[in-house]
Parts: sequence; structure tokens; C-alpha cells
Amino acid sequence: MKKHRPGHHGLVKLQFLGGVGTVTGSSHLLTTPKSKILIDAGLFYGRREKFFEVNTTFAYQPQRISALVLSHAHIDHCGNIPTLLKHGLRSKIYTTSATRDLCKLMLADSGRVQTEDFRYLKKISSSQKGRHRARRGAQYMNIRGPLYTEWEAVRSISHFRPLHYGQKFKITNDVTLTFYDAGHILGASVVLLEVRMQHKLLRLGYAVDLGRKQLPLLNDPTVLTGLDYLILESTYGGRMHSPISDAKGKLREAINRTVARKGKIIIPSFALERTQEVIYFISELLKEGSIPPIPIYVDSPLATRVTEVFRNNIHYMDHEVKDLVRRDESPFDFLNLHYVQSQEESKALNNDKRPMIILAGSGMCEAGRVLHHLKNNITESRNTVLIVGYMARDTLGKKIVDKEKIVRIYGLEYELNAEVVVINALSGHADKNDLIEYVRESSPVNEVFLVHGDEDQTRCLYDALSSEGLNPYIPAKNEEAVLYKE
Ligand SMILES: [Zn+2]
Repeated sequence: MKKHRPGHHGLVKLQFLGGVGTVTGSSHLLTTPKSKILIDAGLFYGRREKFFEVNTTFAYQPQRISALVLSHAHIDHCGNIPTLLKHGLRSKIYTTSATRDLCKLMLADSGRVQTEDFRYLKKISSSQKGRHRARRGAQYMNIRGPLYTEWEAVRSISHFRPLHYGQKFKITNDVTLTFYDAGHILGASVVLLEVRMQHKLLRLGYAVDLGRKQLPLLNDPTVLTGLDYLILESTYGGRMHSPISDAKGKLREAINRTVARKGKIIIPSFALERTQEVIYFISELLKEGSIPPIPIYVDSPLATRVTEVFRNNIHYMDHEVKDLVRRDESPFDFLNLHYVQSQEESKALNNDKRPMIILAGSGMCEAGRVLHHLKNNITESRNTVLIVGYMARDTLGKKIVDKEKIVRIYGLEYELNAEVVVINALSGHADKNDLIEYVRESSPVNEVFLVHGDEDQTRCLYDALSSEGLNPYIPAKNEEAVLYKE
């Protein structure tokens, strides 16, 4: 049998497959003389047909991949792993144990959401008549089903092989992998890949996504040095965040103002990381006595399960959290904090007129239990909607941020009279200055490949790095860069 050789003898190449010129669908392919390493396999978000087409079209044969390296558990980095397994991927998937545990929940949720969307499509395509139905039907016929089900998502976890931060591990004959803390979300990594060539050890760094210093719960991002190349995100390549300390102050003021009005505080919150950060800040405010001891409800089954993973992975967190847990003061369990389980319990909160804080999903208010809390509370001026995360265009969350007078929930119109408070300081991504500083500290680097950003943001970072002589380069989608030739 002819021996398969992944790459050309003496050549190391990097292909930028996804999360290029955009922020979703991160994936890159490193080809060495002896291996093909896929870095991340994220879901691309787009309209239904594009979503299906992009996420099932691969520039490589999945069965030829020697190893998959996964940076973190956000769906735009891990969400296409079950699809790849269905299309023949046989390799191991290397990541941290916290990322594996989070992926189990996040991928299952993604499978469930896709299945529900597919059922909905099927229903409308069979209930509508005439031309409209034909058009919808055609759209439905083009989509053969969800990319994967909840069950297929859960099954994919058996391919994961966890590694510790700092553990150098030979993943193929010529490539060694080491994960370091990215300070982005729990278990997230910046990645170091070292390719052993005859005359050189080639070092490639991957910081996508890169966190920030001083984020609650997390350690600061690790700087990779001695690199030949760095792949870097540029989500906020042209923008600056407010300091994280602002978030706590704004949170305190919003809670106190609302309690003085005897109102409720509704916080639409992403299940992963943002919910736990807000709980942490609230626990601090309570301890300091700077907010009254009102009840706090986490009303999201996914957020509750994700918090359980946080509880089991304290060793991934910063020393403040470790100290708290050692003193038996876990920031995830304290008096007044309740994790809501059933739908009935969730609905019962509507009849409870006491001031309270409700954290509920979905993060952008497009689905989930947050909808009935909004419906029941936004018409009254004594209540507050507290926005702590990014809201994409056209979502209900964005309409609330824009303080539109009338918003639609479950097809009905509601007047938005509640106070709207927006806290922008909690982003988990490095901003422009953080990114520049990171490259400065990593340098010298032959080339810094800028990915994972909208064009204007990436361009802005490019200009800043180039003016300092820091060698940025913006690859095009599917472009192949030769990293080394022997
Ligand atoms: Zn991320």
C-alpha cells in the first residue's frame, strides 16, 4: 500500500479556513510533512441555507486530519466538531478538561436548538399554501436536517483528550502541543504548536480568542514568546473597553436604584461565563453590604449546569476565587442565590412582587425564559433591564438597548417603560490596546496573522501594529501561507 504523506516534504503550511474577515466559524489548518492539524472547528453563523452550506463544506478530507486542537468552548470555535465527526473525522480532539466539560453542555444545547429550528421549519413548510409554501418548502428541502442532534453532540465528547495548562504533549510524529491560560473564559487556551523539522523547530502561537487582564474569576492571559508566527484575534481591534471595575459600580447603582423603587432587575445573560461573572460581582456587593439582601434567581437550566462545571473547576480560576472557596465562601453558592429548576418555578416568580434580581437566558433575548420575565416586567417603570453582554443586530436585546418605545414579545406589542442600563465593561475579549500590548510582549514574531474580526476592526489593528513595525498580515479566507521550507 502506498504510504500517505500529508504534506510536501520539508514544507509547513497554514491555511485560514474560517473566522477570517468575520467573527464566527473559526478554523485553521496546519500542514506539516507528517501531519495535518486542525485548529478549532467553529460553527459559522448565517442565514439558514448559508449556515448549512458553509458548515458542511470542508477544504480538506476530515478523515485525513491527524489531530484537532480546540482552544475553548464557545460555539464559534467548537460548534462544528460533531459535524466533522459525522463527515469522517477520526482524530483525537485535544483541549483542557474544563473546555471538554463545557463543550458537553454547549454542543448539546446547539444540537437541541438546531433540532427545534428544523422542526419549526418543517411545520411551517407543511402548513403554508401555494407559492409561499413552495418557496418555504424549497428552502426546507435544501436543508436536510440539523447539522447534528443533541445526542450526536454528547457522543462527540468521547473523542476529547484533556491536557493541563503547560503540559507539553506530542500529538503527532512531528508536532508538539502546549496549552496556556487565555484568560478569556473558563478553560480557554492560547495554543503553542511546535513543528520539529530537520533544521528547525518552528513555533506557531494561536491566541483566538484572547482574554483581558483582571477579568473576574479568571487568570490573566499568558504571553507566548519565542514564536515564529502568531495567529491573533481582532474582534475589538479598533475599540477600547471601559475598565472592568466600572461594571461593579454600575451594577451596584442599578440594583440600589431599582430596589428603592421596589422594582425587579431582569438581566438577560449568556449561560457561559457572563452569568457566573455577574453572580460573582453580586456576591461581592452583598458581602460588602453595598446592596440590600434581595433574592437572586438564576433562571436558566443551561446556566445552572454551566455553573456546576465552574464549581468543579475552581483550579482553573484566579487566586481570589481559590481563596474564597478555601474559606468556604463559594461565589456560586450563597444565601439568597437560587437556581430555578422547573418552568412552574420560573413562572411563579411573576407573582412574587418583592424586589429581586433575575438572571435568565437567552443572552440576546431571542428565546428562553428571559422572554416571559421581560413580558411581565418591561412595561413598568419601577423595573430595570440590565444589559451585560453584546446584542447583535435585529435581536430583541438590541431593541431594548436602543430603548425602542414598543417591543414585540411572542408576537404581541409591549411598551418599554422599565429603566434600561447597559454595562459594556464585561467583555471577555482583549481590546485594541490589549492586543497591541500582547504582540509587543510576544515580539519579535516573523508575522502576526490577524483573524476573527470584522473588516474595519481587523484593519484598524493592522494599521496600529504596522506603525510599530510589528509585522501584521491579514489573510484572505482559504489563503494558504507557507511558514517554512526546508
Ligand atoms: Zn470566545
